[in-house]
Amino acid sequence: MQADPTAQQALLQVADLDTQVARLRHRRKSLPENVQLAELQAKRGKLSEQIVAGQTRLTDAEAEQERLEIDLAPAQARLKRNQEKIDSGLITQKALQPMLDEVEHLKGRIANLEDTQLEIMQRIEDETEAIDRLTAARKEIETTMRDLLASRDKSAAELDIQITNIAEQRSTLAGRLPAELIALYDKIAQRVGGTGAAELRARRCGGCGLELDVSELKRHAHASPDEVLRCEECGRILVRTDNSGL
Ligand SMILES: [Zn+2]
Repeated sequence: MQADPTAQQALLQVADLDTQVARLRHRRKSLPENVQLAELQAKRGKLSEQIVAGQTRLTDAEAEQERLEIDLAPAQARLKRNQEKIDSGLITQKALQPMLDEVEHLKGRIANLEDTQLEIMQRIEDETEAIDRLTAARKEIETTMRDLLASRDKSAAELDIQITNIAEQRSTLAGRLPAELIALYDKIAQRVGGTGAAELRARRCGGCGLELDVSELKRHAHASPDEVLRCEECGRILVRTDNSGL
């Protein structure tokens, strides 16, 4: 391919702009806030799991408390009734002892149920406190996350503006170059995943760093300035400058 040497040299500017955009895009993708956000997201997830587990235990304990109250109420009523009968003195001697035995039994049962009730009340208190603590911790994380998201979006928006500016410069510059040349550049850039042209600098390809061998250098030295040279290693357009060492 033939192209005006000035147009060939302008490809180095295009390549420079493309490198700048690639760097900015990389920075945009790897903003430090994203790392922190991912860590906080994981912490938040763990806290949410703990909160759900705590709430399940709390619901279980509350259900157990209700069941205990259901068991306790008839035992207490029966004890009251028996005690009243005993206190009335109207019970026959024969019926008195079994009733006293039952009163003893009921008292024991009620005491047991009340002990369990106290344990459960303590459990409910502990779980509630733990859930409150975990919920507060999660809220704090969510506040930090909101701040980080705002800061990340601000940084990203600033980078977007820079990217747009450079892309506009690039587009203007590319628009002034021969269509065939820029099309070749773009094709190479897409294939190598970066820039499509590089300076031939001190006998090396500025793209892949390969040093050109003697015969190639000789060929390039004798080539017309209009001829578009290519690197044999990476395929990039090699742009000759005063630093090429030809
Ligand atoms: Zn190369």
